[in-house]
Amino acid sequence: MDYDLLIENVDIVSPGDAVRRGHSVAVAGETIADIQPAAVLQGRTAGRRIDGRGGLCSPGFVNVHNHTPLMAVRGMFEDRGFAPAYTKGVPQGHWLGDAETFALARLGLAEMLLQGCTSVVDFYARPQALAAAMAETGLRGYIGGRIMDVDTAALAEGKVVADPALGERTLADSLALFDAWHGAGDGRIQCILAPHAPDTCSPALMRSVADIAARDDIRVHTHLAQSPLEATRVQAAYGRSPTELLDENGLLNARLTAAHCIAVSDDDIARIARSGAFVAHVPVGNATGGQSAPIEALHAAGAPIALSTDSKSGCMLDAMRMALRVARIRAGGRLVFDAATAFAWGTVGGAASLGHGAVLGRIRPGCLADIVLFDPEAPNLRPVVDGVGVLVHSGSGFNVQTVIVGGEILVEDRRPVRYDLSAVIREAQDVADALWARVQAG
Ligand SMILES: [Zn+2]
Repeated sequence: MDYDLLIENVDIVSPGDAVRRGHSVAVAGETIADIQPAAVLQGRTAGRRIDGRGGLCSPGFVNVHNHTPLMAVRGMFEDRGFAPAYTKGVPQGHWLGDAETFALARLGLAEMLLQGCTSVVDFYARPQALAAAMAETGLRGYIGGRIMDVDTAALAEGKVVADPALGERTLADSLALFDAWHGAGDGRIQCILAPHAPDTCSPALMRSVADIAARDDIRVHTHLAQSPLEATRVQAAYGRSPTELLDENGLLNARLTAAHCIAVSDDDIARIARSGAFVAHVPVGNATGGQSAPIEALHAAGAPIALSTDSKSGCMLDAMRMALRVARIRAGGRLVFDAATAFAWGTVGGAASLGHGAVLGRIRPGCLADIVLFDPEAPNLRPVVDGVGVLVHSGSGFNVQTVIVGGEILVEDRRPVRYDLSAVIREAQDVADALWARVQAG
């Protein structure tokens, strides 16, 4: 057998490369072995062949910031506040046990998987349940526990109240996750450290996390300057901007991926760029909350950008075009950035933020075979000219037909192959029904 898998007759769109029409992709083990015009590879033998029928083929999307248990409040908090942890009258994270977290995580991950995400960062309370759900899907998962020591119920009332026991417990949960899950699922599960935000972590807790991350070279994910309110609170409490506070406590460096970066000054932007930290851009979530991040300025200053859906739709193509639209509105109508740039943010840019830019996020020989195939008969994906334009400006995650991670087919004909999607949906609905009944009961 020449190859384990041969994906035949596809139009390949990959960051940094011109579209390759009518090509085939050969996979050996978990990596891409060769890419040639379809006729060249036609006679080769393979354990499994997929006929792409002339559809688009892209690297899997890298979705760098999510909290899947927030599926419980989808459709219910967007009109009330910008994040459930800061919003009254919706189910709260600390209500969830392991079983509820697992059920909601499975729903969030199923949605991302079906829409072509192949690498997903997920962090929240009950991280062991998140990891179990991730392992079941077969995705490349970067999991963390939500580390914090400020009471969010008090914060929703505008008060910053430190709770050292909460800090110790959430940090211990995070560290226990490493022992149980780091490297699990054939190496697809990796653990991260995730201090929640500058207004929910005390400086002492930030410093503890920074020291552990530096000692063991662990990637760190956080929220930064998620709202003007956060900036105001942090300034009042510490006399510094959220960005300065992270920097002062050892977290702002090349190991960090900072989500949102909305309320940042010119000085903060320069500081972020100098540090080598990655920006996790959340264009859909930000816009839903009436906010936008100064991505053009961050990019111009040299900050590397990655993309996420942040537990909204899971559609990275939607995130890419929202990133373009919002940047252009902010720029007063200048057509800043282009489809290829946004596509790179959602693929190889995310891979770089996870430390895997050399092997993930591109369709190239030697890269990991994380590949997405789109419906060749989707009318919204025609005509294909340069490929990336139609994909980013007109594509939908639900045009995805096949998802492959490390050479393993995880989605075929739009259905996950490892588990029963109907059961996942039913169980998540049951959990949400119970949580909302509790809200109604007061
Ligand atoms: Zn978040």
